[in-house]
Order: sequence, then structure tokens, then C-alpha cells
Amino acid sequence: MTDFPAILLAIPVLVASVIFVLSPIWDRGTVPATANQKSANTSDYVRYVDLLSRRNALYRDLLELDFDYSVDKIAPDDYAAQRQRLVAEGVNVLRQLDALNLRQRTDSIEKAVQSYQDTQHQTDPTCAQCGAYIEPGDRFCGECGAQLVEGTAHAAR
Ligand SMILES: [Zn+2]
Repeated sequence: MTDFPAILLAIPVLVASVIFVLSPIWDRGTVPATANQKSANTSDYVRYVDLLSRRNALYRDLLELDFDYSVDKIAPDDYAAQRQRLVAEGVNVLRQLDALNLRQRTDSIEKAVQSYQDTQHQTDPTCAQCGAYIEPGDRFCGECGAQLVEGTAHAAR
């Protein structure tokens, strides 16, 4: 257990540096403008960092446990039980990380689709009579049959 005190010292330093790095983000989260979107992103980010540090701590504990076992500091039964507990906890943390990653990916895909649709709606010409989208160069509206002369088709806002 010679290296254990060093690890105990490292943890508060790590936690302090994470808090230090994140503090500007938390401050920004209190700004009222677009607060909902921002605080959702911020809480996801804080949770992500928290999960990462839990994962790293579990990896560290596992390495330490394996080391203790390799130098016969721990009984095989205790080793098996502790290792099983750590692995189960690790799987749980990794699952949460996956779920968070998936949600962020889904969010960005939805945003991309939304902004693509917005762009389409801004540039597609519409029928002045019924508002249906029409192909540039069409002479008649496919929906209502209205004749499209130049000037009657204009982009929706
Ligand atoms: Zn029409």
C-alpha cells in the first residue's frame, strides 16, 4: 500500500482542478439569455465530466486491486468479490456515458435536420394562391393548378 497515500492526495487536486476548469461554464449558465438550452448543455457537460472521473477512479481502483492481489495483500475471495463490484459499477458508468453520448449525437442530428428544413423553407418558392411548394420553372401549381407567372411565386419567410 505504499502508493496509496499519493493517490489520496491526487484526488482532491483532481477535483479542485475540475471545479476550477468548469467554474466559468457554471457562471455562464446563470445568464438568462437562452438559459434553457445553455443550462441543459451545461448540466450534460457536468454530468459527462463527473462520469468520466468516476470511470477513471474505477479504473484506478481496479488496477490497485489487481496489484494488491498480485502481491498477496488480499484474499482470493475478497479479491473476486471486490473486483466483481468494481466491474459492475464500471459497466454502469460506461452505460451512462454511452446514453449521454447517444443523446448528444441525436440532439445534433435533430438540429442539423431542423436547420436543413429551415433552409429549404426559406429558399423553395411557393404558390401565391395556396402556399404549396413548387419547383422553380413550373408554370402551373401542382396543388391548386393556379397559373404561375413570374412574380406570383415567392419564397416563404
Ligand atoms: Zn397553388
